[in-house]
Amino acid sequence: MSSKKLLIGEKMNDLKNSIKLHPFLFAIFPIVFFFSLNSQEIQFLDALILITIFSVLTLGITLFFSYFVKNKESVGIVISIGFILFFTYGHVFNLITNTMEIGQSILLGIFITIFVVSIFILTKTKKKLNNISKIANVIGITLIIISASNLLLDNFQGNYSLDLVQISPKQSDIIDVQNTIYPDVYYIVLDAYSGQEMLMDELGFDNKEFLTFLDTNNFHVIKNSQSNYAQTYFSLPSVLNMKHLECDESFDGCINRGTTFEMIQNNDVMDRFKKEGYVIINTYSGWKPTSDFELANQNLCSKYYTNFINTELTTAIFSNSILNPAYVFLFEDDKREQIQCIFSQIKKVSVSYEQPIFVFSHIHVPHYPYVFDENGEPTSPERLEMGWEGEEDDKEGYLGQLKFANKMMNEVITEIKRDSKISPIIIIQGDHGYKAKIDDASNPTDQELRVRFSNLNAYHIPGKDFSGFEDTTPVNTFRIIFNELFNDNLKMEENSSYWFHEKSPAYFDDITSILKK
Ligand SMILES: [Zn+2]
Repeated sequence: MSSKKLLIGEKMNDLKNSIKLHPFLFAIFPIVFFFSLNSQEIQFLDALILITIFSVLTLGITLFFSYFVKNKESVGIVISIGFILFFTYGHVFNLITNTMEIGQSILLGIFITIFVVSIFILTKTKKKLNNISKIANVIGITLIIISASNLLLDNFQGNYSLDLVQISPKQSDIIDVQNTIYPDVYYIVLDAYSGQEMLMDELGFDNKEFLTFLDTNNFHVIKNSQSNYAQTYFSLPSVLNMKHLECDESFDGCINRGTTFEMIQNNDVMDRFKKEGYVIINTYSGWKPTSDFELANQNLCSKYYTNFINTELTTAIFSNSILNPAYVFLFEDDKREQIQCIFSQIKKVSVSYEQPIFVFSHIHVPHYPYVFDENGEPTSPERLEMGWEGEEDDKEGYLGQLKFANKMMNEVITEIKRDSKISPIIIIQGDHGYKAKIDDASNPTDQELRVRFSNLNAYHIPGKDFSGFEDTTPVNTFRIIFNELFNDNLKMEENSSYWFHEKSPAYFDDITSILKK
């Protein structure tokens, strides 16, 4: 009896001995590193989910191999090498393809060979490998400490991580609205939707079919429209708070994304609608600041919110890993379904409510990645990261997705108008234009600026006369609507546009005169 117990005890001891620290460190380092660089746009929970998954995976692999391999030190080292190869593959591939043509299969072959050879050497060796393990531990710990210190330093310098930004939605008192009947209001942001002038000039596409559709549906489309900013994280806080952003202390030296996040989440527009008795509806955008609002009564398509696959973090980690050739294939369906969910939900949400609704819908079309062709059929982009836009230089892809957006909006507008008891207000707006590549962001050419700022800006406001508002820009969107709806007396803001320089000191450069040339 005791010999059996002894044997089990020995096995357990063996397993315990084979669990080394460094494989865990190398498994989670890429996640910690990416999070430390992007904590202003990613929530810690997303990182924690991935860290947990990779830790459990490491444990599983360790126990599995320890069962077959005598030299326990070698198991840990092989796993660490495996993770290093796994996570660096995409980086190496991108680096190499910058200078030479090499197929995925050749590079994959090389990586797999390195791995197999290292397994062979390490499991056969009679040498003690303790020193290698110790060195690997020190390297792993150092890498993680450096990332963590950068994260802390960032926060000390005022660039707060998303999780540390305080969001306490205003407690609105609902004004007595018994006697007033308001229309539903839809504010639909089609990310990076260009204005007609730049679609023609830069992309050689005449959008007249959709513009005619808008016209026959009583939309007023601003001619030569320009956005106030060229980046989503400046455009949206500006529109939703009806003011320009300022580069002063109140705006933390311009560059603090935590501030723009807070301004979006805690915005004046939703607050005002709420006060007037509106039900606030948001749709899951896939971009943290507009994914879900505490101010909203309902966040549509929120099932995608808890899906760790569909986060920028997961996509970035896997796109740079050995799954690079396959990650688009693995994740693209999810991206597509999420966008389709929004279009199908905004069509029919109004019938669920007796009260007037304000729908805010930030949709990542025609913005990169291009996952739909013009008929809504699936297309596979080269990469899935939103930040890849402009680098891909894929005008066809952009136009395909823009035509798909037209098709969807055609259905959405038709159904909303058909099902609304009171003629609704509908705004369709690009937060900026097509993000063509800009060679030198600190010194963009006039044409590069015109392309970036040219946006679609279309208003369906029954009874509104747009004379005197020919030059209006998104910053005034809700000033116009509130004046119209609630008889507010809001003055219009300057219809000016600003290019943001990230160079130190950061500032907003007034480029209105360049755009008007
Ligand atoms: Zn955008």
